[in-house]
This record gives sequence, structure tokens and C-alpha cells, in this order.
Amino acid sequence: MSESQLEPHTLQHTYADELAELVTPIKPTVIYQPQLQVINHPLWESLGLPVDWQDNDTLMQQLFGSHSALTARSVAQKYGGHQFGHWNPQLGDGRGLLLCEVEDKHGQRQDLHLKGAGPTPYSRHADGRAVLRSTIREYLASEALYHLGVPTSRALCLISSNEPVYREQPEKAAMLIRTAPSHLRFGHFEYFYHDREPGSAPEIATPKLQQLMDYTLTHHFPQLMENQYPHLQMLLQIIADTARLIAHWQVIGFNHGVMNTDNMSIHGITFDYGPYAFFDDFEPHYVCNKSDHQGRYRFSQQPSIGLWNLNAFAQAFRPFLSVEQITEALDTFEPILVEHYHHLMLKRFGLTETTDGALAMMALFMKLLQNPKRDYHNSFRQLAGHKDWHSLMSLRDDYVNIVLFDEWLTAFKAEVEAQHVDFSTLQERINAANPHTVLRNHHAQAVIEAAEEGDFSLLHAYLDVLSSPFDEATKIKRFASPPATQDKGIALSCSS
Ligand code: AMP
Ligand code: MG
Repeated sequence: MSESQLEPHTLQHTYADELAELVTPIKPTVIYQPQLQVINHPLWESLGLPVDWQDNDTLMQQLFGSHSALTARSVAQKYGGHQFGHWNPQLGDGRGLLLCEVEDKHGQRQDLHLKGAGPTPYSRHADGRAVLRSTIREYLASEALYHLGVPTSRALCLISSNEPVYREQPEKAAMLIRTAPSHLRFGHFEYFYHDREPGSAPEIATPKLQQLMDYTLTHHFPQLMENQYPHLQMLLQIIADTARLIAHWQVIGFNHGVMNTDNMSIHGITFDYGPYAFFDDFEPHYVCNKSDHQGRYRFSQQPSIGLWNLNAFAQAFRPFLSVEQITEALDTFEPILVEHYHHLMLKRFGLTETTDGALAMMALFMKLLQNPKRDYHNSFRQLAGHKDWHSLMSLRDDYVNIVLFDEWLTAFKAEVEAQHVDFSTLQERINAANPHTVLRNHHAQAVIEAAEEGDFSLLHAYLDVLSSPFDEATKIKRFASPPATQDKGIALSCSS
């Protein structure tokens, strides 16, 4: 499809149109020698975008040309956020732009958002760019999580450039177009709630907060419009989606790293990737972010930070709900998270029923992974690929604490029998729930170093493997290996 064949309704601008007072119209700033390096073909196709935009010159014309359809109505969104526990009203799209919205083939609205688009009024003296390293990391992680079944924004394409940018050292700028059902963050609602006359009643919505709530209900929760309490139902939905998302992170060993409320999506998707990491060895208190000196966003704290963030977000519902309604809604977070965590975790053992016996067996296994520390992902994957219990028992040789291993295996076998699961079904389930390849920082680093030298072939290869993480046939040995001891658990800085 060429631009002339692009249906007029394909690119929509509901946010720019209906919330004009909450945005600043602005175009992307031309970047030096841009080169389209990676395209997410299945995603592109599902969005119904013109195929001829996949040509480098054509896409750049769409991004930077004066009469382009793609950027005709691009805007920077205003929001705020609690960063490391402190309220910051000065945030907004400082280096990203909402280009437009499209409806994908499943009828789901998707934003097209250009990250690294150049300065905006919210850039706060920074350059408005993203470095190649961080765009590659976002591409890798969002695709890895997507294929593991974890809700996330997605990467549509990556554009490298020869434009120098300065972080801890000189680097090259790059851009990423990403998709998400919207870019509405907790911080949008917080900002327009707190942006009120000092001393004004918290029970009265400012006109902008009212507009934002109306817009969000109309476009993202239309099914709730007829409900007696649409705002309460919306809050409950966001709480439940956030709880299930964080449970999923805890199950796969993913540490987001910067759970500021401006990085939390109202759709319960993983969003705004920074110094994230999957841990290698099982480290409950792992901190992936080098700048997080107090470990506020450490792995074990993600569930309680999720609730903290929801508390901050829920304040914006004060004009619409009573304090009791908000408190009762927040009380639903923990049980939903725990139940989903148990469900997903037991799936990794091929079990479907959350019984006391199953939970005790799971606790034994987690203990086994900790002392001495073992690679989290491979330890689970090793439970797959066995023909009988005897073969599974041979894993024993791999464990130092044999007494604990035997205790766990006995408990596991008893639970499998109690749940009446035959061994081959058990193996099929284990195989489908435990990836053979997860995103490892040391492999991501190798991919980045090659790309910085102009070689993107490793990035393509890693993305290919990460797109079928449960399929043993696609396994490429070099990406399956855990890191050497000295490369384990490296923390990364926030600068990106
Ligand atoms: P982040 O740490 O990427 O979640 O960004 C936090 C805030 O800083 C957001 O308002 C960003 O838009 C802004 N920001 C981060 N990096 C840059 C940059 N290089 N130029 C302008 N604004 C930025
Ligand atoms: Mg952010």
C-alpha cells in the first residue's frame, strides 16, 4: 500500500484533537544520516501500515518531510510523576512524540510513538535524543517479554544515525517507533489532579482532569460507560492489570529498574524500558539500576512499589470516588497479585491447582535455587525434556544440597500424583512454560557492541531466537548460555 492508498481514517489523532490543551504540537527534529535497521514485520502488518514506508528514504520522508501524513499532527504529551518517591510535576514527552493512532487488525487502538525525536518543551535542557544502546535494549526486551506472553509496549522499527550525543561518553543517537494501546501513564492523571489552585477542594475535578478521565473512559474503557460507577470500575481494572503484570515479572525474573509513576502504564503493560534486567542467578533482592542506591526498585520490592504507585495514582480519583471506594479498590491488589503469581509459578512445574502441597513444593524449589545460588532460568528449563521420573531424578547430580533436592523431588512427585497428571502431559506443560532462551544482559551487551560498530546481524539473530523462546529447535547455543561469574548481575545506569 502506498500513501495514496492509505485510507484517510487509518491514521487517527484522538488524543491531539480531544485533549488539545494537554499537549504541545511539535514535529520530529531531523537527525543526521538516519538508517532504518530493524523492522518488526508481523507488527507492521498487523497495523496495516503501507509497506512502501519500509523503504529508508520513504520512511524518513514520512518522519521529517513537511507534508507527511505520519507526523501531520504529532504532539508531545504533558505528564508528571513520582520519581523515587518524590513528586515531580516537570515531566512530559522530553524526547518522544505521539505521532498518531491506528487501529490494528484485532480492532485494538495502538499509538505510534517516536522515541528520540528531538527536543520538546518538556526536555528540560536535555537533547531530546535516545542512544543506540537504549533503543536496542528496549527493542530486545519488549519483544522478549511479548513472546513470553507478558503484556508490554512493542517495537515497530529501529533507526540508527550518525548524530553524536553525549552521555557518560560520546555515543550515537537512534530512534525507535513503538506501539502501545496508549501512552497514558499514572503520571498523566497525577499531574492534572495536582495541577490545581492551592487550597482548592480535592473533591472537585479541574476541567483538564475531567477531560482526561472522560477521554480515557470513552476510548480505552468504553465497556464501562454504562456502569453505575465507571470510574470505580476503571480503577479496579487498572489495579488488577497492574497486579497481574507485576506477578508475571516476578515469575519470569524481570527487574524493571525504574518503577517511577511516569513509567507505569494504565494498561498494565511493561513500559519505558531503562536499566531493566532479567537476573541470571536467583537473587530475590537484585537491583539492576546502578543509580538506585537504596534499592527502592529491587526485584523483591516490585509488588509493594506497584501498590505504592497505585496509591499515588488513585488520588486522582478523589473527585470521582469516596475515600472508602478508593481504599477498598486498592485492597484488591494484593490478593490478585498473589493468586496470579501462584498460578503462573505452578504452571512452570506443569501444575494447574494451587494446593497447599503445591505451594510447599514450590517453596522448597525456590530455597534450592538460593543456597548455593543457581541460574534461575536454566534451573526451570532443566525440568523439561525428560522421559520419566528416573531421568528427572538425574538432575540431582547438578545440585550441591542433595538432601534438599530429594525433599523437593519427593514433594513434587507426590503433588503431580495428587493432581493426577501423567508424566508426558507434565513434560509438555513444563516445556511450554519454561523458556530455553531469555534475554541476558551479557548477550544484549554483545549485540549492542556489534551494532555500535555497524553490524546489526547479531541483533537480528537474537531477536529471532527471542521470538520463539519455548521452541527448542530454534535454540542457538551462543544465546542460551548464562554469563561467566564476572559478568553476572551487572547493574546498568539510568542514562539513556
Ligand atoms: P525516563 O528516565 O526515560 O523515563 O525519562 C524521564 C523524563 O526525562 C521524561 O520526561 C523524559 O522525557 C525525560 N528525558 C529523558 N531523557 C531525555 C533526553 N535525552 N532529552 C530530553 N528529555 C529526556
Ligand atoms: Mg519514562
